[in-house]
Amino acid sequence: MRAIVIGGGIMGLCSALALQQTGHRVTVYEQGSIPNPMGSSVDHHRLIRHPYGPLTGYAMMINSAFKAWGRLWSQLGQTLFHATGTLVTASDDTAWVDQSLSDMNALGIRVEALSADGIRHRAPMIRADGFEKAAWIDSGGVLFAEPIVAAIARHLVLSGVTVNTNTPVVDIDPVRGSVTLADGTRARAEIVIVACGPWVRELVPSIMGRVKPSRQVVAYLEPPPHLADAWRTAPMILDIHGAGGIYAVPPVGGTGLKVGDHTFSRKGHPSRKREVKPGEAERLFEACRSRFLELDAYRIAHAKTCFYTVEADERFILEKQDRAVIVTGFSGHGFKFGALMGEIVAGLTNERLTPTEATELAAGRIADRKRIEALTSLCSD
Ligand SMILES: Cc1cc2nc3c(=O)[nH]c(=O)nc-3n(C[C@H](O)[C@H](O)[C@H](O)COP(=O)(O)OP(=O)(O)OC[C@H]3O[C@@H](n4cnc5c(N)ncnc54)[C@H](O)[C@@H]3O)c2cc1C
Repeated sequence: MRAIVIGGGIMGLCSALALQQTGHRVTVYEQGSIPNPMGSSVDHHRLIRHPYGPLTGYAMMINSAFKAWGRLWSQLGQTLFHATGTLVTASDDTAWVDQSLSDMNALGIRVEALSADGIRHRAPMIRADGFEKAAWIDSGGVLFAEPIVAAIARHLVLSGVTVNTNTPVVDIDPVRGSVTLADGTRARAEIVIVACGPWVRELVPSIMGRVKPSRQVVAYLEPPPHLADAWRTAPMILDIHGAGGIYAVPPVGGTGLKVGDHTFSRKGHPSRKREVKPGEAERLFEACRSRFLELDAYRIAHAKTCFYTVEADERFILEKQDRAVIVTGFSGHGFKFGALMGEIVAGLTNERLTPTEATELAAGRIADRKRIEALTSLCSD
């Protein structure tokens, strides 16, 4: 079967790979370069973690996500992941952490409640006060995002997939399975995967009320020299402060120390105003003060903007519409599921999953680990 994939981010590339692996003739169209620094998928790193607060269905899907990454590493001949473990602190409202720890228990993942001394031992550069609950979770780590995107694209080309960069698709006809390129050329396939990240509304206007591009600022910090080693072996840090808080990604594998916040801006257009405005990086820096010791000894190395594609309940959208499959709404937490989502797209295309099963799985509405494993293994058999 011929398949067209629109979008060369993690979702489009993983879908292309899984489709190619299951015998389809695949063509990818990407409006920019691959990796495209404007896309959601392209930065030094993305986190993969088990704790998921109220979204238990995603916590239960992480083991399947790790297995899908394992299959991807085998195909690529390299592992682009670094295990760090996860340190969670919560203040104001501990419901997110309480639910996460109960899920870890159900999954058999080792968790350690941390006292102030425990925090000092695990992450000596973190403030060991001002939290109501803190825990070490013995799983999770860093996916090297940009190298992963680049490696999959290379692998696709070597495997015979046609990858067209700098080739925007300007229109799709889901009923006919056709796409129109900027120069007016048309291409057709039995299946069209629309994986356009924060640009999805331009090709699928009907998705309008359901997803919103959300401009987010992240900052790379340079720690003082005496804390550099501690950061290089640090866990990822999730600081949950009421409905907000910050996260810190340790500088593993030659990457930078990155911080971001958990609050969606729900504003902006992914092609416009990408520069960081005066004061934005400094505000994020200040948000780190309640968790970082000696913050004034740090320097903002650089800051950048990136776009989430936010769905109201942070649930992914993977839906079949005639000959099109729309994959979007990854809401700031999709990368870790990229390899698995690609397999689910192929599972749906190959009728190993029903449209309802694929949609429910992607939306994290199946909170039963065994059922998730049974369904996802149908896609990768
Ligand atoms: C700051 C930040 C931090 C994040 N942290 C994490 C994290 O720690 N863990 C995690 O799991 N997830 C995280 N995410 C979310 C994750 O990165 C995204 O969910 C994921 O990358 C979405 O991938 P995508 O392929 O859907 O979108 P994209 O990567 O944006 O890919 C879409 C591609 O489609 C192309 N395109 C769009 N329109 C067209 C068109 N008309 N024609 C051709 N090509 C087109 C675009 O150029 C783009 O390359 C984070 C995101 C951001 C922004």
